[in-house]
Amino acid sequence: MELIDGKAIAQRVHAESRAAVEEMRTRGVTPGLAVVLVGDDPASRAYVRAKDRMCQQLGLFSLKHELPAETTQEALVALVETLNLDPRIHGILVQSPPPPHIDERAVIAAIDPRKDVDGFHPVNVAKLALADPSGFVPCTPLGVQRLLVESGIETAGARVVILGRSMIVGKPLALLLMGKGAGGDATVTVAHSRTRDLAAVTREADIVIAAIGVPEMLKAEQVREGAVVIDVGINRKEDASAERGYRLVGDVDFKNVAPKCAAITPVPGGVGPMTIAMLIANTISACRRMDA
Ligand code: NAP
Repeated sequence: MELIDGKAIAQRVHAESRAAVEEMRTRGVTPGLAVVLVGDDPASRAYVRAKDRMCQQLGLFSLKHELPAETTQEALVALVETLNLDPRIHGILVQSPPPPHIDERAVIAAIDPRKDVDGFHPVNVAKLALADPSGFVPCTPLGVQRLLVESGIETAGARVVILGRSMIVGKPLALLLMGKGAGGDATVTVAHSRTRDLAAVTREADIVIAAIGVPEMLKAEQVREGAVVIDVGINRKEDASAERGYRLVGDVDFKNVAPKCAAITPVPGGVGPMTIAMLIANTISACRRMDA
């Protein structure tokens, strides 16, 4: 069984990003990312800070806006519109999920699609569906595809089952993997909470990708011997022996599934580091396109 090292692969992507940023600096150009957080959800706060920190480490310009939970829709949209016009900023990310009084779709729609490095704006969703490379692809699916490619896992002709149909992970990932070319050409099935006899579906897969949000849900008997398993899930599981009172687990019952697999990603250290690496890569692409 091969343990897919997402941290090491993310470091390779970061090295490319660092080189690109240095090359751009010689031309007087610095890619810039703005991350916006509304509210004080601890996990979201940790993500936003990690993104900001990574920008600084790689030499990008970075703006972090941490707004109170009672921020109005109008104020948030006004901030997005200011960032749309800010020439230092090439990528804008509004951390999901916002508090319930915020209409997330309206906020995303307010982002200039050329700065939508999360790939959630309707223009970019359409471009992904149309296989138009001028759009932005959501970072987690892009990271999963890159993990597969860098790990030498053949997707062409492979039977892939994706568990989860969210707009953040499952749906865009299905479009990517069924697309033509490297890291694509797969035969993709998307399963969800209404799928009948899930185990029969997942047992058919050469590659199972779990993006469900249910801790350790994918069990050994649902995976065939020799499959590749990619675990997108990040869940907090209570653990009195852990320093913080919890530990992170994925959507896969790693201990029992791993021995059956040809390759598997751990949690943490699998897909997670790739998401941020692809966010930085998308921001650099956005800057290049605006600079061209
Ligand atoms: P989500 O929006 O809650 O979607 C979950 C999907 O799983 C839904 O399509 C749901 O089906 C399906 N599902 C739920 N229970 C199921 C079950 N028992 N059997 C089959 N399908 C089931 O979640 P998400 O935003 O896609 O995130 C999924 C996981 O990935 C979470 O653990 C999240 O923390 C993690 N995540 C990680 C990263 C990263 O950087 N690594 C990034 C994003 C998300 P229905 O549509 O029928 O409800």
